[in-house]
Amino acid sequence: MGEFDVQVAVVTGGARGIGAEIARRFARDGARVVCADVLDTSDIVAEITDGGGLAEGCKLDVTDAEAAAATIKSVFEAHQRLDILVNNAGITRDQLLVRMKPEDWDLVLGINLDGVFNVTQPVAKLMMRQKSGRIVNVASVVGLMGNAGQANYAASKAGLIGFTKSLARELGPRNVTVNAVAPGYIQTPMTDKLTDDQREALLKNIAIPRLGTPGDVADAVAFLAGPQASYITGVVLNISGGLYI
Ligand code: NDP
Repeated sequence: MGEFDVQVAVVTGGARGIGAEIARRFARDGARVVCADVLDTSDIVAEITDGGGLAEGCKLDVTDAEAAAATIKSVFEAHQRLDILVNNAGITRDQLLVRMKPEDWDLVLGINLDGVFNVTQPVAKLMMRQKSGRIVNVASVVGLMGNAGQANYAASKAGLIGFTKSLARELGPRNVTVNAVAPGYIQTPMTDKLTDDQREALLKNIAIPRLGTPGDVADAVAFLAGPQASYITGVVLNISGGLYI
């Protein structure tokens, strides 16, 4: 028996990077994973199903509230349950504030924060009725400590942390936990953009001097979504190797 046998988990931004690793982790432990992404999810779905796991993909832009509600409805109708939501889809558009284009502010807040609202609202309604569920939001240490050149991203992730804590209070009485993870620098396509100099400077500030792996984040997400975390809600689990302490 896997830890997540028969459970249904939706992972936004599940086509690649951290989201894909979270999908692999849940599937390995028996969950049926729904990878929802603007990108094509056929590779990750094929990888999981070829390995004997349960996975399905769907095209979803989380900024589209109607599409988000329809996706959640169809997942629930197909499986008659929705146990886990991981709000992982997110982007960066880095620039110093004085040079930041308003559209890059709007884009980052629109996906990283409004997108979470769009997906979580229909999920929360279902989980409240079901009287069980786990919601894990992928924030960032940048939402806790700030970062020059990332005012839009930091604001979105700090907002996500406030959202997490508020929702934890709203949904706790219905046996639904809501937590966040705050990764530091994780090796993914998002951080592949760093130059060697940027990477070296970064490592000087990380107590465990390496970038994190998507697996480091997936393990923490699985813990918060799993049975050992049933009395944990409203927390922000920092996974930064000591970048932020
Ligand atoms: P990736 O860019 O590798 O993956 C994110 C996925 O989300 C991509 O497939 C992306 O598609 C998708 N996505 C983007 N916009 C939308 C949208 N509107 N609707 C649905 N899906 C969308 O990023 P990571 O795996 O690195 O990051 C995952 C999460 O982890 C993000 O929330 C990020 O902020 C957070 N994080 C990452 C860190 C890191 O160091 N990598 C550190 C801290 C937090 P597309 O390629 O088209 O954008």
